[in-house]
Amino acid sequence: MGWIYYMPEILFVIAAIIAVFGIISLVRSLSADKEGKILCRKCQAPAVKSASHAYLFLIPASFDQEYEDAEGYLSRNMKPIAGKDQIPTGRRACWLEVFTCTKCDERQVRIRDFLQVRGEEYLKGTYILPYASFRSLTEQWEEMDWNRERR
Ligand SMILES: [Zn+2]
Repeated sequence: MGWIYYMPEILFVIAAIIAVFGIISLVRSLSADKEGKILCRKCQAPAVKSASHAYLFLIPASFDQEYEDAEGYLSRNMKPIAGKDQIPTGRRACWLEVFTCTKCDERQVRIRDFLQVRGEEYLKGTYILPYASFRSLTEQWEEMDWNRERR
């Protein structure tokens, strides 16, 4: 019956192990975004960036203007642009990145809507949305002849 004597220590070790795992999963979910990962909309597993670059689009909203139904509004109104120098003063723009889930292969996009003020980006909203609604926009962006557009 010697082990009963060590019961408090055993319980402490079990509690410590649970706490460590809790902290690890918390840190993982907090740092997921910093490593270029998001959590899948469907299964919550990490999704990783599947395109090496981010796409840039103009949004017909100004300053703090708000909109409902981000998926519908953005997919209908985003216009491809080559760089931040093409954003008119006071107009909003957004970065679009494509992610693929490591578990279920579901593709999704992260859109970060921002207002540029003196070269700084002020985030107005971040949306994780289905890739299907934005596929044609990424294709449109890739088909643009940016060198010609700039001149
Ligand atoms: Zn998934």
